[in-house]
Amino acid sequence: MQLERLRQTIGRLLRSVPPIRDRLLQAGVRSPDDVASLDDLQRLPFTRKTDLREHYPFGLFAVPREQVVRIHASSGTRGKPTVVGYTRADLDMWSEVMARTLAMAGVEPGMVLHNAYGYGLFTGGIGFHMGAEKMGCMVVPISGGMSQRQVLMLEDLGGEVLCSTPSYALNIAQTLAEQGVSADRLKLKIGVFGAEPWTEEMRQAIEQQLGITAFNVYGLSEIVGPGVSAECEARQGMHLQEDHFLAEVIDPETEQPVGPGIDGELVFSTLTKEALPMLRYRTGDLSSIDPSPCACGRTTARMARVRGRFDDMLIIRGVNLYPSEVERVLLGVGDVTPHYQLVVDRPGAMDELTVLCEPAAPTPDTGPLSRRIERALREATGLSMLVKLLDPGGVPRSEGKAVRVVDNRPKD
Ligand code: ADP
Ligand code: ZN
Repeated sequence: MQLERLRQTIGRLLRSVPPIRDRLLQAGVRSPDDVASLDDLQRLPFTRKTDLREHYPFGLFAVPREQVVRIHASSGTRGKPTVVGYTRADLDMWSEVMARTLAMAGVEPGMVLHNAYGYGLFTGGIGFHMGAEKMGCMVVPISGGMSQRQVLMLEDLGGEVLCSTPSYALNIAQTLAEQGVSADRLKLKIGVFGAEPWTEEMRQAIEQQLGITAFNVYGLSEIVGPGVSAECEARQGMHLQEDHFLAEVIDPETEQPVGPGIDGELVFSTLTKEALPMLRYRTGDLSSIDPSPCACGRTTARMARVRGRFDDMLIIRGVNLYPSEVERVLLGVGDVTPHYQLVVDRPGAMDELTVLCEPAAPTPDTGPLSRRIERALREATGLSMLVKLLDPGGVPRSEGKAVRVVDNRPKD
């Protein structure tokens, strides 16, 4: 099925997307029949974010503008956003993969689903909305922000499923605590969280504070939005929705495929998308794929939790560091809230990294706690960092994707 659908995608690109057609011709692909097996994928050209920017906004669309019934854009985490489009059939497919995502997390028709992903150009809000309606949930389209109203609606409407970024879920949890609403007064059971990197430690913190079971969902606007992969009840990696997306993991330097379980860059080709078919799209996301059968009985391959993007990797005095490693250590040490931010400066010749966080309980003398965290960070990463414990609420909160790094170093 994947091969047949890949050929259809190649056919669409050859017919209707001149910039990609040129590259396919250069690679010796003149017709879909030139792709004889899935192994031929490796001969096919990559597509990058720069291609979307170069042909902004509609240059890579494969259907006439009149057939595009929806536009979204990437969040613009890195620079100018890219615009993506959907036909009616694309929206049906997206609703389907999102309904499956919810089903894998144990969501059932009739449940009250509180959707706190941002609505608008960002794919999170409307993506979850469509999937939840298809599933037959009662959707509360509250969007992100106004945390006090989130709490009121959760209480009054009896939300059972919470959908948001993991950082915003924590934000809601904190507002609950501030309002004196205990989590067991709510009906929440399930959380479906994604759109940004988060750790197992963060999962435990969210589950404990909200009294729920939390599931990870992955996606990106260039491929469809959320729903490219999602966790089942086994929560041992996210099942790739392989009938619609063909996944590879490559070594970003050599561009060669790496084996099962080996970390590399995720690359996706869409198999059924009409408006914006993507061939070997370089996500920049760091993960690995496990093709072995899952305890849940599903046979699709699973991808590992995304540790971050290659772009997010900080190089501090020559040492590579992902913000998620700091998260793991902070929450492992405990005694701090799960809110944090990394600030990088270069006051002289050397980079300095400061970790902003907050003590979990009022502490008159924060010295011992910050030294304890500094030691744990040094042991885990090999880097000396300065830990600054701020007053409660001192670390900036997010309503969507959290800003984990503020890099004040001069750009060279
Ligand atoms: P932008 O790339 O501008 O942030 P998107 O909203 O399309 O725009 O975000 C997609 C990106 O979000 C992915 O490429 C990935 O880096 C990140 N992401 C999405 N889901 C997850 C997840 N579950 N875990 C880690 N990162 C994720
Ligand atoms: Zn499974």
